[in-house]
Amino acid sequence: MNLATAYSAATFRQQAHALVDLLADHLDRAETGTAPVINYSEPEQLAYWQADFAQPTNDDPLPLFADMISRSIHLHNSRFMGHQVAVPLPLATLTGLLTGMLNQGQAVYEMGMTANALERIVTQWLANKLGLGPEAGGLLTSGGTLANLTALLTARAIVAPSDVWTEGSTDRLAIMVSEEAHYCVDRAARIMGLGSAGIIKIPTNDSYQMRTDLLDTYLDQATASGLTVFAVIGSACSTSTGSYDDLTAIADFCERHGFWFHADGAHGGVAAFSDTYLPLVQGIDRADSVVIDFHKMMMIPALVTAVLYRRDADSFRTFQQKAQYLWADADAKDWFNSGKRSFECTKLMMSAKVYVVLRTYGDQIFTDNLETLYGLARRFAQQVRRCEGFELAVEPASNIVCFRYVGPENDPEPIDKLNSQIRNRLLQDGRYYIVQTTLRQHTWLRVSLMNPLTTDEHLAELLAEIKLIADRRAW
Ligand SMILES: *Cc1c(COP(=O)(O)O)cnc(C)c1O
Repeated sequence: MNLATAYSAATFRQQAHALVDLLADHLDRAETGTAPVINYSEPEQLAYWQADFAQPTNDDPLPLFADMISRSIHLHNSRFMGHQVAVPLPLATLTGLLTGMLNQGQAVYEMGMTANALERIVTQWLANKLGLGPEAGGLLTSGGTLANLTALLTARAIVAPSDVWTEGSTDRLAIMVSEEAHYCVDRAARIMGLGSAGIIKIPTNDSYQMRTDLLDTYLDQATASGLTVFAVIGSACSTSTGSYDDLTAIADFCERHGFWFHADGAHGGVAAFSDTYLPLVQGIDRADSVVIDFHKMMMIPALVTAVLYRRDADSFRTFQQKAQYLWADADAKDWFNSGKRSFECTKLMMSAKVYVVLRTYGDQIFTDNLETLYGLARRFAQQVRRCEGFELAVEPASNIVCFRYVGPENDPEPIDKLNSQIRNRLLQDGRYYIVQTTLRQHTWLRVSLMNPLTTDEHLAELLAEIKLIADRRAW
């Protein structure tokens, strides 16, 4: 292929039309439920693609596109209810095509004039929705993992007594976080050199929420052993069970001790958009920093994450601890050089996907999606409770429901093993996609209801299917 042809507008026009048709057919099949959610095969996917890779090149990429679709898990299928990945709005996906073509690097103003402006608008809109106040702002980055690390780096720069950025670690710093928090918080703390001792895991109650009544005891112990706590992280919500920590209690505790309060709302922070579910995140407006993934509960394809700060100026100290006053003054002039406060240098033009959805549908679509999915989960929990042979791990606070099949009394099969086998069978069948999780050393089935087109009937059918599988035990 010569380079001029590879860049030709005519070729692009023809391939893009064909691809859009292919994707629209894919959406059609998902909507009508005529295709399985997954064509599970293990491990011959690698062999298949190795054989494909050995083929001579082919000018027409369409067969490749089609193959990739059929050999991937289908999030738009209403029976997809596994991991916490957004079912992308087609409009946001289309915007991804646009931003891929524009490829605005964004680290300096002229390499992302529109991208940086949209990022500013989108982050301030979100900070405003969360009630973070007039000085709030933030940035977008690639994923909750990087976002949590960024926020904790800011926290350390602002709150820790020593200048770690310049001097290296001199104090034994520590954070406090629930034992149910997403593992990336633990990872971020280790990257920051806090070590095992610097990650103080607070036990959870029967609803898997942080035992905030224990914070003072754990702090006394930490201080006595020579640790300097600088931040507390609240989960809104946690990953396994989707439980919300008591953010108000954490905010009070942080205020009393001068600690940084970080809210990890990667999954469930958007509850703040709903009058019904707002109580779940009460206190989030008092956080010093908040992380929200648009690619979890906000229907945007990965990755788009907001790191928000109650005082936008704080974010300019993350990677420039010494230059703090400089940045605070220059803030108003320098918001557009986004590379200065983000871990990333070249960055995806991610703001556009959110902006286009906001300008086309309005922000009510985010509220509707959240309320649909959280409501569905509550009704599913009722179904589980009413259905003989099933048990619920905990009343769902979000759209994540953990449950298991306990079978008839005196069932000789250990319950953990039985549920693991049920989940395996479902995966092989491919009509439903659910996952499993471990809670207090036991295996539970887990659904994250991510597709707003999933109905109560799909979920009733899932329970019936599980019962059938368990009765047959054909593994
Ligand atoms: C998903 C999640 C993360 C990690 O975010 P990524 O975007 O997957 O990197 C962190 N915290 C919570 C609470 C999450 O749900």
